[in-house]
This record gives sequence, C-alpha cells and structure tokens, in this order.
Amino acid sequence: MTDYLQTPLQYLKGVGPKRAADLQRIGLSTIEDLLYRFPIRYEDRGHLQPIAGLKPGQQVAIAGRIQGSKLRTTRRPGFRIFEAVIGDSTGSVRAVWMNQSFLQDILRPHVSVVLFGLVELRPGLQFTNPDYEIIDADDEGGGPPSDETTTIHTGRIVPVYEKAGAMTPKMQRRLVHEVLSRLPEDLVDPFPAHIRDRMKLPARRIALVDTHFPQTGTPIELLNQFRTSAQVRLIFEEFFLFQLGVLMRRRSAIRESKPTVVKVDDRIRESARKILPFRLTEGQRTALKEIVDDMQRPQPMNRLLQGDVGAGKTIVALLAALVAMENGLQVAFMAPTEILAEQHYLSLRRLLEKSRFHVELLTGTTTGLRRRDLLARLAAGDIHLVVGTHALVQGTVNFHSLGLAVIDEQHRFGVVQRATLRSKGLHPDVLVMTATPIPRTLALTVYGDLDMSVMRDMPPGRRAILTTVRPESRRPDVYALVKDQLEAGRQAYVVYPLIEESEKIDVKAATEMADHLAQDVFPEYRVALLHGRMKQDAKDRVMRSFAAGDTQVLVSTTVIEVGIDVANATVMVIEHAERFGLSQLHQLRGRVGRGSHQSHCILLYQYPISKQGKERLTALAETNDGFEIAERDLQQRGPGDFFGTRQSGLPTLRTGDLLRDHSLMEQARQEAVQYLDSDAMTSQILESLRQTWPTRFGLMDIG
Ligand code: ADP
Ligand code: MG
Repeated sequence: MTDYLQTPLQYLKGVGPKRAADLQRIGLSTIEDLLYRFPIRYEDRGHLQPIAGLKPGQQVAIAGRIQGSKLRTTRRPGFRIFEAVIGDSTGSVRAVWMNQSFLQDILRPHVSVVLFGLVELRPGLQFTNPDYEIIDADDEGGGPPSDETTTIHTGRIVPVYEKAGAMTPKMQRRLVHEVLSRLPEDLVDPFPAHIRDRMKLPARRIALVDTHFPQTGTPIELLNQFRTSAQVRLIFEEFFLFQLGVLMRRRSAIRESKPTVVKVDDRIRESARKILPFRLTEGQRTALKEIVDDMQRPQPMNRLLQGDVGAGKTIVALLAALVAMENGLQVAFMAPTEILAEQHYLSLRRLLEKSRFHVELLTGTTTGLRRRDLLARLAAGDIHLVVGTHALVQGTVNFHSLGLAVIDEQHRFGVVQRATLRSKGLHPDVLVMTATPIPRTLALTVYGDLDMSVMRDMPPGRRAILTTVRPESRRPDVYALVKDQLEAGRQAYVVYPLIEESEKIDVKAATEMADHLAQDVFPEYRVALLHGRMKQDAKDRVMRSFAAGDTQVLVSTTVIEVGIDVANATVMVIEHAERFGLSQLHQLRGRVGRGSHQSHCILLYQYPISKQGKERLTALAETNDGFEIAERDLQQRGPGDFFGTRQSGLPTLRTGDLLRDHSLMEQARQEAVQYLDSDAMTSQILESLRQTWPTRFGLMDIG
C-alpha cells in the first residue's frame, strides 16, 4: 500500500522545486514531515469583530480595508512608526507597527486585511504590532474577506507554527490546510488499532486534521496543553514507536553472546588492590560491582556510568579493564579528543606501571611505521589496553580479543560505537561514561536500553568551587581576583559564549578579549586563545602549553567544555554567563577545582538579564551538585534545550515533549512491552520503524 504521507512536498500545488528545497533545508521533505510538525500554540480567532464594537483589553480579530497610512519618524534616530487606519462597514481603528517601515509597501491603501491583536486605549483605540494577514494577496486589489481567509487564518481556532527558515507560520498554515483537504479516507495508520480503541484515541487521519485545525468549541486551554485526544494520539504514536525501537534493540542485544565471559577470583581482587592508589568511595564501589556483575554475564554489557566531573569515573573503568585483561581480553579506551586520550593514556599507564599489562596510545597523529607496529601488536594481542579517540573502533584497527570498550564523555557516540563494533562481528562489553547528569525522569524512559550506574558522591577532601555572580560593573574586582591567583602561581580560564549568530563574530570577540587581557590587564603573563575555528593541531598546541603551565591565561570559546584536566587552573571567568544554560555552566565550571587548591568560578553577566537568567546564575552559585542542577535546568528549559548543543543522546521528538508528556512516555513504554510480548508485530509497524528510527532518533539498526 502506498503511504500518501510519504509524498514529497514538491508535488504539492504551489510548492515547486525551489520552495521544496527551502523546506528540505528545515527538515521537511514529505507530507508526513509537514503534518507532524506541530503548532507551537493555538489562538482563538473565533470570529471577526465589527470595529464599532471594539473594547480596550480585548484580544480580537477584525477585517477591513486600509483607508490610509503613513510612516512617522520619531525623535529617536532611525526609529520609525508605521501607522494605518483600517475600516469596515461599522467604523475604523488605528494600528501601529514599530520599526517595520517595509509595511508601507504591503499595507497600502485599499488593501483588505485581517488584524489580530490586543486592543489598547492610547488615547483612542489602537492595535499595537498586531498580526496581519492580507486577504487575497494574489490579486492585491482586495475585496471582502474571502472564504479561504476566514477558514484558515481567522474566524476559528488557528494553529500557530514556529517560523523556520523561509517558512512563515502563515505559509505552513496554508500548506497544511491544502494537504489535509486531500488526505485519503483510508490513510495508512501504523498505530495498532486495538491499542487505539482501548485508549479511545482517534484514527490517524482525524487526529491530523483536528490537531492542525481543531473543531470549533475545542477548549483552547486543552489544546495549548496538548491534551486533546487528537494531539495525544499523535504524541502517543511517536512515543510508542520510539519505545518499540528501544525495546527491540535491547532484546536483540540480549540475544547476543560474548565469546568470552570473564571470571573474578581472589587473584584478580589482589591485583586490583595493588594498583589502587586510594580507597574507593561508596559510589565507586557500587558502580564497579554493577559493572563487574555485567561482565560476568553471557550477554555483552551495555552500561552507562554517570558521575559528575571529578567523581572518579576513570579508576572505576580502569578496574573493570583490569578484570578484562586478567581474563586475557583486550580493552579499548576511547575519549572524545586527542588531548583527552593522551591524558587518559598517561594516567592509565602510570596506574598500570606495576602490572604486566601493556598500554599504548593510538590516535590520528600516530602514523607511519609506529602506527603499523601498534596495529600489528594489537592484532597479535601484545597490547592489552589501547587508548585513543573514537576513531579507534572505526578504521582498520583489528583486535586479537577485544573484551571491553570504554567510551568516555559522549554517550550518543557510545551507541554508534557499539553498532560499529557489532558490525565488525565484535560483541565486547561496552561501558559508556558521562559527566552529564541525566535526570531520573528522562533516564528511565529514554535510555531504556541502557543499564545505568550512578555515582553521586565525590572523593574525599575535594574542595567545593566557590562560585560568585558579578555584574559587568564589578569587572575590576574580578580581574583583581584572577591576578591574585596568577601571582600565587595558578592559572586561569576566561570563557566566551556563542554570542552572535555568526561564529566569525564570536571569534572576533574572543580574539579582542585575548588581546586586551594580554596587553592591558595581565601584561606580565602569557595569554593564549582557543576557539573552534582553529585547526586541530593549533588547538592541541595551545592546550598542551596551558597544561604544561607555559601559558597562564586561556581565553576560550566553549570548546574547552569537555577539554582538559589542568589541576593548577584554579579560576574561571565566564563572560556573558547569562547566555548559557545551567548544565552547560556547570560543565564549564568543572574544568577548575581539579587540584588541591581552592578554586573559583566567576559568572560575569551583562544587562539585560531576565529574572530567570539571574535565578539561574544564583542557583549555580548555591550548589555544586550536578544532579540537582540538571533537575533545575530541566524544569526551567525543558528537555529540548536541556543539554544545549552537547551530544546528549536524547531523541529528537517531533510531536512530544519529554517533560510535558512524560507520563505518556511511560504509558507508551508499557504498551510497547505488552505489544512485543504479544507477538502481534505487523509488517506495517516494522516498516514504519525502519523508516523512522535511524533518521529520526539518530540511532542505528534495531535488529
Ligand atoms: P571524572 O569522573 O571526572 O572522570 P576522574 O576519574 O578524572 O574524574 O577523577 C578525578 C580525580 O579524583 C583524579 O585525580 C582521581 O585520581 C581522583 N580520585 C578518584 N577517585 C578517588 C578516590 N576514591 N579517592 C581519592 N581520589 C580519587
Ligand atoms: Mg573523566
């Protein structure tokens, strides 16, 4: 059966190849993409009001003709006000738009328009910056409000879409309306009918229509909470498919078995005790036990180890590695950057110094003869632990007996790596480590196919980072504090956020800052600059020099986030802190406080700062607990932005919102479990999963 929703948008009336390309750029290629792009809110533009009946304070729509207009200049240079008078058969009213001079070409005299907005009294009745809609834009002569306008854009509950690229809310409304009017009666519905009936949810076709153009009388509050049965039906469908994929992946993983299952005995325990430089914390012990228990099972481990920055994840991974190596297996330890890989390599080698195991580093900069030699020794099994970047498992690296893969700091990547390993016929235990705390509410449902260990405690003797919030006016004090630290022999970070849309401008701001600090503020110290546009080897050079203490001040964009471990760096100044999310600020801050000296983090903010923004900064100053911060961040911003630009591994959802629709996600999980157990899987659902899963949820094969 052909699925009408898979029709490419370019075949739609009035779209054409150029528009289709525009739409593609914002991720819309098919009718399905379009229809599953939900409104962000709904407005009740119930009925057009006669102008004579308008009252101040009303949110209303009117229709009429432009009777006159003018562009007014003001005393503020460059600031202009466009003013128009709109009349219908009952009267006329004024509308003004600030700083939108171009409107004089659109809202010309005699054009018919619909306005929607708040009526104010100042002193006569007036609309300020109302939404407007040209009626019959095609033949701009005007005429009375047409049928199209009154059925799509006003005179009803109207969906408001987010503007994206060339697609305005109005355009989407028109396109969606057009598409909906052509939906076949027998539209394919992948969602199991018996579940749908039991939950009393509508069929797909009706759900789509009612979600975009709700029937008259649908409560607007219910719509804006996304709780009408039409909306719930579509959200649930997405969650259900998502959970099916998660569960299928998990079940297929459980069917795999490892060639070698490790054993733990007293000899191994003794050898672990020997390399351990300190007592493990409670959290480390529990996590290690969970990991080693997994390793002793016939199925490959698939575990995520969460622990805040500095919680001591490395040693836990090393002990797991030791268990594997003592069982004659090899271990691959992967970090997101070369520098991190190098750091891991150095500390792991030091810890394993007294053992008989060989540790090597293999990165992109390992080339030529040396590389060939390492590859040969890996394949022969002479190297027991290899440290590298994520490229380790990709290319041509062959292992003799890979038993454990440790993946540091990028759990999204972890999933992909595991698939790569599997496609090479390898089924090692996989341990993914992350310092991004994932709130429980999300973890249970979203990472349903991963087992999870969480370390909430910190090694003893760690000094809390002192975090302070300072306005721009206190900059001199901030510099004084940094100077004190530098004079005491410590080092400092100065972090710049992405400020403008353009990276070029950001780099310029950071560069100017670095120059200013070097020349005017800290002339006696060495200041270096690090940003994402630099070549990798240039970045590495800067990082190394800072790690070695040759550079004292590192001015950086957010690239240091999962950067580097410099114990001597004790102060971080975050510029424009108001522009960062909480979790990101916390991650950044984790770059200091890694040594025995007291560390400081200064959140420098500029006006304007919102009340929420200020609260965010205060929250950060109040706690060093990454989990608490993550929960707060989630509450404040919602999961969409929760992890900022970090690779969070959260699925990209089209209709649902992980926070708002959390209970639906749980329900979807239960339904998916039942459904899989009942063996009722239809080829239609399988097909639908194949189509949506890899691209939509960004993950791989689901078996
Ligand atoms: P992260 O979890 O951020 O990767 P690390 O593994 O780098 O943290 O550990 C941070 C620091 O804490 C390291 O210097 C490590 O040696 C030290 N450390 C880890 N566990 C303990 C412990 N139980 N007692 C004392 N120090 C520890
Ligand atoms: Mg680490």
